[in-house]
Amino acid sequence: MKVGCDQLIDILNHIGGKEVQGIDENWILNYAPSTGKVISRIPKSSYQDVENAVKAAKNASEGWAKLSKDERADWLDKIADCLESRFDEIASLESLDTGKPIRISRAVDATRSVTNFRFYAQQIRELKIEHFRMENATNHVIKRPVGVGALITPWNLPLYLLSWKVAPAIGMGNTVICKPSELTPMTANLLMQVIKDAGLPDGVVNLIHGTGIEAGSPLVSHPDVRFVSFTGGTETGSVVGRDAAASFKKISLELGGKNATIVLDDCDIDRHIDSIVRASFLNQGQVCLCGSRILIQEAIYEIFKTKFVDSVNRLKIGDPSDENTDLGSLISPQHLEKVTSYVNLAIEEGGTILTGGISPEIGAEFEGGNWITPTVVDGLSPDSRCSTEEIFGPLVTLHPFKNDEDAIRISNGTRYGLAGSIWTNDSSRGENIAKQMDTGMVWINTWLHRDLRVPFGGVKDSGLGREGGKWSLGFYSEATNICIMDE
Ligand code: NAD
Repeated sequence: MKVGCDQLIDILNHIGGKEVQGIDENWILNYAPSTGKVISRIPKSSYQDVENAVKAAKNASEGWAKLSKDERADWLDKIADCLESRFDEIASLESLDTGKPIRISRAVDATRSVTNFRFYAQQIRELKIEHFRMENATNHVIKRPVGVGALITPWNLPLYLLSWKVAPAIGMGNTVICKPSELTPMTANLLMQVIKDAGLPDGVVNLIHGTGIEAGSPLVSHPDVRFVSFTGGTETGSVVGRDAAASFKKISLELGGKNATIVLDDCDIDRHIDSIVRASFLNQGQVCLCGSRILIQEAIYEIFKTKFVDSVNRLKIGDPSDENTDLGSLISPQHLEKVTSYVNLAIEEGGTILTGGISPEIGAEFEGGNWITPTVVDGLSPDSRCSTEEIFGPLVTLHPFKNDEDAIRISNGTRYGLAGSIWTNDSSRGENIAKQMDTGMVWINTWLHRDLRVPFGGVKDSGLGREGGKWSLGFYSEATNICIMDE
């Protein structure tokens, strides 16, 4: 066994405030994506581990729900402080575990994970009971905890997405069982250490590791789990939605995307080109919001193409721990194989690879990693498989369009509807297009510019429900109306 660290780290489940091995004592090895070396192992949890975690969450439920919202907000701030004190460690572990550049894991992952706890602490403090006065009675709408919940997350933004769920869920008085991706367990483990160090009551946050089938599925189906918040692929989301629906659990699904980047003929290309490249390739294109189809108005197609490819060719791919690196490795050999298969498919479908699609030369240390250069494809039909299926990697397709209606039609021509961006000097023209795009989110002249108070989520096969601000607080609570007749 090749080992990436001095010592193989055993990462354990966290149940009722204790670190415990999986009951079956089976393990899953965890590999560093940039080198292919083993860095840790996690329990291959099964039904009995899920059962124990749900029991612990249930036991903690009553005491936790009794706290006032301000007391719970204070706990979120305390967790934020403890997380912040380990900021550099979060960034390094996330970079090691995902293969992403350290600069990105610091600016995006570590920063947002701390912010998520602080943000929801504030939101929960500001939460007000709503009152509706009638002629002879008053309604008070209170928000009560839902109960025990399952929080299931993917590998691309591990702690960023987990903290985005844990903070509002426990802040609203629920207790939870987290099931992070089996490919990226390191920072979820760190979060549990932080929660323990902060002194949060045992059992409020529990965590089990393992595969989706053996650990995730029994968690979703467990009769005592009352809500499921899932972020991951559309196919998995469909299974999770079906399993949760059988017992009427509350469900939130944040799923895949095939987002369009629309470049209008009045776009200031020189001003925006770096932002459009970032929207295409941040985190090696492994962000659900990345624009993987770039629709360019005919008049500027050639000039945009030249400048875009030049800019992509300047991206520095390599050692994730190097501060100057722009692109790291993909998450796994299986994912590399998937992305490579789409490079081959692009050629079969009649496309031209303008740049990328090959293994970069970055030194012997990284030979066992999952590497591919950022890939730009021209000449494909917008209806081709490559241009409509989610690849979730560093591959974008370029497509010319005639007019605004044409751009809207192409943009709406997939099963997905997560996000999109429009680049133009005329923001009212951009807004008019945005209103006709079947997506949950559209950015104009920016991308991934997030105000945490606004709704986040997709339409069509990109998901169900919204996260963010009051939308998360609504999901992680039950609204109960108390109507009091005047005396
Ligand atoms: P995935 O669906 O394979 O796995 C996500 C999580 O679900 C993992 O923890 C996995 O173990 C678990 N899981 C798998 N099968 C399960 C089952 N039957 N029951 C319960 N849990 C199960 O997704 P992934 O490959 O980890 O992540 C990539 C996908 O996530 C992409 O499609 C991407 O677009 C999507 N994503 C969406 C958003 C969003 O906010 N919309 C954000 C990030 C990633």
